[in-house]
Amino acid sequence: MNRRKFLTTASLTSASFALGGCNESNRQAIDYSKHPEKKELTSKAVHINKNKKVVMKLATSWPAHFPIMGTGVEKFAQRINQISGGSLEIKIYPKNTLVPGLAVFDACSSGQIDAFHSGPYYWKGKNSAFSLYSGIPFGFTAEEINSWMLFGGGYELWREHYARYNLYPFMGGNTNIQMGGWYRKPIKSLADMQGLKMRIPGLAGEVFSKMGVNPILLPAGEIYTSLERGVIDATEWVGPALDLKMGFYKVAPYYYSGWHEPGSILEVTFNKHSWQKLASEHQAMIEVASSEMNSNMTYEFHAQNILALSQLKELGVSILEYPQEIIEAGKKSLVEVLNEQSAQNEDFQDVYQSIKSYLDLSKEWDRVSLKYFLNHR
Ligand code: CA
Repeated sequence: MNRRKFLTTASLTSASFALGGCNESNRQAIDYSKHPEKKELTSKAVHINKNKKVVMKLATSWPAHFPIMGTGVEKFAQRINQISGGSLEIKIYPKNTLVPGLAVFDACSSGQIDAFHSGPYYWKGKNSAFSLYSGIPFGFTAEEINSWMLFGGGYELWREHYARYNLYPFMGGNTNIQMGGWYRKPIKSLADMQGLKMRIPGLAGEVFSKMGVNPILLPAGEIYTSLERGVIDATEWVGPALDLKMGFYKVAPYYYSGWHEPGSILEVTFNKHSWQKLASEHQAMIEVASSEMNSNMTYEFHAQNILALSQLKELGVSILEYPQEIIEAGKKSLVEVLNEQSAQNEDFQDVYQSIKSYLDLSKEWDRVSLKYFLNHR
């Protein structure tokens, strides 16, 4: 039985059991015997030609030097240059300097560029399953999605799906847990959410839509003025570090803790032919440097968020929690969205079942360990 069949079969079996089980089926769905990085490292025999510098074009979905995401990928390129002794150069093209920010997937797929740095949820129009690779509301934390990708079958599914587009992805950062967002008025009940115009993209937007919110998509540069003028009533963005820079607290002072993006990953994805042409040493360097970028970006978000939170508090911003009925409505809406999308797309179902099997086991472990600890710290 191939890996995908195995996952699907095991997962469908587990889905027929009661929710949240630590049952035999979801234990079977996690195959620890394969590590995707190891396979890639041993399959190549091409070596570096020291007389020939390799240059790769990498386009991003962020403006130049954009905090954490933009600066993180710039450090990644510097690191590759350093550890390759200058034999591999990754040239960074910020958003719109070579291709538009949200055209990087197609440009890389066609070979116009060799790589891109962005987020998988942007490509849900290609395949709804891709949004799951960024994570789901009430789903994986940053630590859990890393662990699912590396050891729980995530990378195998992602790479299988992206291969159809001639692409080879790596995790390239994680925003860490995001805040629920900024509201012009306090949210005291589910009734307060009805008809609310909110900037909230992706799967989370679909969940909020089922809760009565009207999700709006806006370019980053228009969010502040839209909030200020009341064109929208609320926005989510990322977390204290990036939200503070956007100044949302001045026009929408009610700031809520979040559950809609608990650990969204970013990606550094390569054109498959460009990747395969690389010497095995260069491939290994990219694997190491992308892993470093992935963890460093996660930790940098944490480091910047803790400072920005204290600054926001000094500015008088109160951090609020959604009423319980909103959390319950969010969970119910999420199940509906996941079921609907699973019924429409087999890939979505495969990925979601893999995530669910892993998450059910992980939740149980976190309950008796991390959650216990944090409740008592
Ligand atoms: Ca967000």
